[in-house]
Amino acid sequence: MENKIRFICQDCGCTKLAEIQIHATVTSPIQKIATTEFDMTYDYTEIQDGTIERYQCNNCGFILRHTKDSNIILENQPIDNFDDLMWWLEHNCEQHHIGKLPKENKNET
Ligand SMILES: [Zn+2]
Repeated sequence: MENKIRFICQDCGCTKLAEIQIHATVTSPIQKIATTEFDMTYDYTEIQDGTIERYQCNNCGFILRHTKDSNIILENQPIDNFDDLMWWLEHNCEQHHIGKLPKENKNET
């Protein structure tokens, strides 16, 4: 399924975005207890209480940063929240504008 909001990396053109979290609590229910930690089998990994540190390209690690226009005080600081991420994507990546057509093009056929 295609994303409604599109990310396109300015460095490599990759469209997969990664969210980097810190201070996260990770829960991994153990499926099979083994005698060495390398043989342990887990059901799944669940992350709780993480703090978003930054968003970056999943391929090349290009970090999304504030610009003068988004926040002059935080210019060049990594973007670390959803609202700013949306702003960045709207202003730096060409969007499809699904269900969100610009007013001037509303009646265009
Ligand atoms: Zn990239």
